[in-house]
Amino acid sequence: MPDCPFCPGVPEETTHLFVTCPRLAGIWARILPDQSTPVSVELAVQALCDAFADADEGRIPHTAAMAVLWVIWKSHNAMIFRATHEYVPTICRNIRRHAELWACRAPRRLDVTPLKLWCQTVVDVN
Ligand SMILES: [Zn+2]
Repeated sequence: MPDCPFCPGVPEETTHLFVTCPRLAGIWARILPDQSTPVSVELAVQALCDAFADADEGRIPHTAAMAVLWVIWKSHNAMIFRATHEYVPTICRNIRRHAELWACRAPRRLDVTPLKLWCQTVVDVN
């Protein structure tokens, strides 16, 4: 298993890559305020979904969770393929952009208000 591109000597396991890598601490602190950094991807997604209460049977929370994981994955690849270190504000901005884009493309019957609100409050980076 290769090392984390940000942490020489630390194996790039799934949990480290998406949740516990020190470079991500500021992101989870922003997304899950008043909680310690989750210890697994599953618990991170669960905690994120819990923040939405009962928004449309989980579709909206899952969209938010996918946006977070997708953008973290892309920031990892930016380092691997372009040696570009994306820091927390950039990653948060990208999460917001992705979530807003996906909200635009959601079916009309889906109430995307909770997702837009989440973007503004949780991923607000001015
Ligand atoms: Zn790392």
